[in-house]
Amino acid sequence: MKLLAGAGLALLSAVQPAQEDARAAGPLLPFDAVAYLTGRFKPDTSAAFVLLPAEVAGARQIWLRREAAQALIRMTAAARDDGIALQLLSGTRSFADQKAIWEAKFSGRRTSAGRNLARDFPDTRQRVEAILRYSSAPGTSRHHWGTDIDLNSTSMSWWTTRDGMAALTWLHRRGGEFGFELPYPPRREHGYRYEPWHWSYAPLARPLLVRHYRKMITAQDLGEFLGAGQFQQLPWMEWYVEGVAGVLK
Ligand SMILES: [Zn+2]
Repeated sequence: MKLLAGAGLALLSAVQPAQEDARAAGPLLPFDAVAYLTGRFKPDTSAAFVLLPAEVAGARQIWLRREAAQALIRMTAAARDDGIALQLLSGTRSFADQKAIWEAKFSGRRTSAGRNLARDFPDTRQRVEAILRYSSAPGTSRHHWGTDIDLNSTSMSWWTTRDGMAALTWLHRRGGEFGFELPYPPRREHGYRYEPWHWSYAPLARPLLVRHYRKMITAQDLGEFLGAGQFQQLPWMEWYVEGVAGVLK
C-alpha cells in the first residue's frame, strides 16, 4: 500500500525543496505517454502515485503524483502553522471520471453554474463552449496528470468569505514555495473561468505540458464522448490546454 499514512512528521523531516522533488523523482511519464496524459491509467498500479493521508484529504480517497503529494503535505502543515486550513477536495481524475462529469452537463442531467446547458444551448458548438467555461473535456484535464488539486471549495462565493480570502491570500503568498501555482487566474485571454480553488504542482505539470502534451496529443487522442466531434474545429489546445498562467507554460 502506497499510503502516506501518518507520514506528516516523518515526511516533513525528510523533504527537499519543491524544485528538487521533480529531479529526484522517477520518470516524468510513469505510463505510456498518450494513455497517461489523457487519463487512461490506474494510479494504484504505479509507484509514481500515492494515496493522500487523512490529515490532508479527510475521508476522500485521493491520489496524486508522489512529489506533488509530498509538497502538498508540507504546504498544508505550513498553512496550519499560519492558522490557515487547507482541505484537499480533488486530485487525480481518470478519463472516465471526466467523461461522466462532461456528459452529465452535455445531456442536462447536471447543471453548470445553475443552468441546464442541454436546454439553453440546442446548438452543439455553443453547448460545448458553455461547458468549457467551467469543465474540461475528457482527455484534456490537468487533473488527469496527478499534478493538480482542488482545495477547500469549488464555490466561488466561498472564496469571497473571510476564511476564503485568508486562504487565497496565503496560497498566493506561499504556494510557490511548495511548487504550487494557479493555472486559471482571472483576466486571461482564453480558456476556463477563474478558479481560485485549482492549484497545480509546477515542477511536474509545466514539463508535462511543455515537453509532452502540446507536442503529442491530438483531437483523435481524446477519444469518444458526447460532443467530441466539435474538437476537430475548436482551438482547444491553444485556448484551453494552453490557456493557463504564463508560469505554467
Ligand atoms: Zn480543478
